[in-house]
Amino acid sequence: MSNQHSRTDVILIGAGIMSATLGTLLKELAPDWEITVFERLSRPGEESSNEWNNAGTGHASLCELNYTVEQPDGSIDISKAVKVNEEFQVSKQFWSYLVQSKIIENPRDFIAPVPHMSFVQGEQDSAFLKKRYETMSRHPLFQGMEYSEDPDQLREWIPLMMQDRIIKGPIAATRMESGTDVNFGALTRLLFGHLQRKQVNVQYHRHVDDLKRAGDGSWELKVRNLQTGETEYHRAKFVFIGGGGGSLHLLQKSGIPEGKGIGGFPVSGLFMVCKNPEIVTQHHAKVYGKAPVGAPPMSVPHLDTRIIDHERSLLFGPFAGFSPKFLKAGSMLDLFTSVKLHNLLTMLAAGVKNFSLTAYLIQQVMLTKEQRMEALREFIPNARSEDWELIVAGQRVQIIKDTAVGRGTLQFGTEVISAADGSIAALLGASPGASTAVSVMLEVIQRCFPQYLKAWEEKIVEMIPSYGLKLTEHPELIQELHESTARMLGLEAEAVPGQTASVQQEA
Ligand SMILES: Cc1cc2nc3c(=O)[nH]c(=O)nc-3n(C[C@H](O)[C@H](O)[C@H](O)COP(=O)(O)OP(=O)(O)OC[C@H]3O[C@@H](n4cnc5c(N)ncnc54)[C@H](O)[C@@H]3O)c2cc1C
Repeated sequence: MSNQHSRTDVILIGAGIMSATLGTLLKELAPDWEITVFERLSRPGEESSNEWNNAGTGHASLCELNYTVEQPDGSIDISKAVKVNEEFQVSKQFWSYLVQSKIIENPRDFIAPVPHMSFVQGEQDSAFLKKRYETMSRHPLFQGMEYSEDPDQLREWIPLMMQDRIIKGPIAATRMESGTDVNFGALTRLLFGHLQRKQVNVQYHRHVDDLKRAGDGSWELKVRNLQTGETEYHRAKFVFIGGGGGSLHLLQKSGIPEGKGIGGFPVSGLFMVCKNPEIVTQHHAKVYGKAPVGAPPMSVPHLDTRIIDHERSLLFGPFAGFSPKFLKAGSMLDLFTSVKLHNLLTMLAAGVKNFSLTAYLIQQVMLTKEQRMEALREFIPNARSEDWELIVAGQRVQIIKDTAVGRGTLQFGTEVISAADGSIAALLGASPGASTAVSVMLEVIQRCFPQYLKAWEEKIVEMIPSYGLKLTEHPELIQELHESTARMLGLEAEAVPGQTASVQQEA
């Protein structure tokens, strides 16, 4: 039964970090616009953006080895690392603006300084890390990176990882003091709290079943009230599909040509968590290793200090897994129902090409706790099974599409898909993810509201001083922004390796 009709300027589907960020940006740029949000769950930030569903790494390429690629001539290509870092600088500037304008009161509620490190063993990987360090530390964005092969130095940086370690060959690590741990769930909730105070109409328990273009060029959404079972119809001039893993189905339902030929492949994640304070206080870093051969890039193992609700814990993983669901709270039919006539060949080609990925995921699903502990012991040699529990993280739906590389290529990045007239946009993919939400949502704004950009530019520059500039081409700005964002976000705390001041402070 249809019993409700409404009209609004903007509809955001999904209450994750992406809709939270876009809604907040739009409220600053066009305060009079009416915005409505539909979320199928009971609160914001419950899917991938939830703090326990992702690793909370403020991805700035300070430690992720998969962002830097060794070229056939032996040189290291750092272009992706530079791009991701620039995007994170944009996020930090916007978050600083939110703190400065009291939209967020205490930055410690969502961000904390945690050094980012890369750690490798063996001759080949140590040589790679050294070359990578030499290339990156020359770049103005990565000033301050430290490198060491000295076990004593490593014992100081990562005492828990060095305890009882039998050193058989070369080991090496890099360290960036300026890394962060970000609680994207808390940030999402803070932003939705702000949006509701600004009269944004946020409706929970509402599942968007369908959307189609109305005769007047607006979009009409068919929305199911999951509490009453009633169907409602809502119209908006602009729709953002921020459904995370749920976005692909909605994009397909919109029928826009830009959404044709695209498929999705879900990869689930599992983490091991340790909350034993005796162990947690011995580690203060996010330490990324190298992905095992054949593993997808998002399976790079890492041992992370997490700070959630001002409490510290350690997270290790992710272990990949397979579930056909596109959302953690999704349906077992998600993968099956995403296959359409227009993406069938693309999906089949991807299936044939990614046999080794499928085999890897099956092998990961079959791992016992003891086998997962063995992987953890590469990081913490004396880790005890009783200190660690397994938790299920979020689903990542990787994009599959035909590219210059070939039919049915699996993509590991994020992509904004928008209609030619800018009336609808969707975000697909998962990586680098939440860390780059501000840049990605600015891209949505640039694509969908070009007619307002001139009028909005001054406000955008107030929120993001580097807007429109490539930081790499303005090295003088890098230090200035680094200092101002660190001050505003409370990231200046001196992190002393091992038993750090901040470990003691938070513990
Ligand atoms: C294991 C794992 C580790 C990760 N680690 C990191 C990390 O360390 N750093 C980082 O930056 N990023 C990380 N990410 C990625 C990051 O979590 C995501 O990119 C980000 O949270 C996506 O935000 P979102 O708003 O697009 O989606 P989500 O947070 O998933 O929100 C989508 C919302 O839409 C709702 N929804 C879906 N369909 C509908 C519908 N039809 N009707 C109504 N509502 C709907 C869902 O219920 C959900 O609340 C990780 C992800 C995973 C899975």
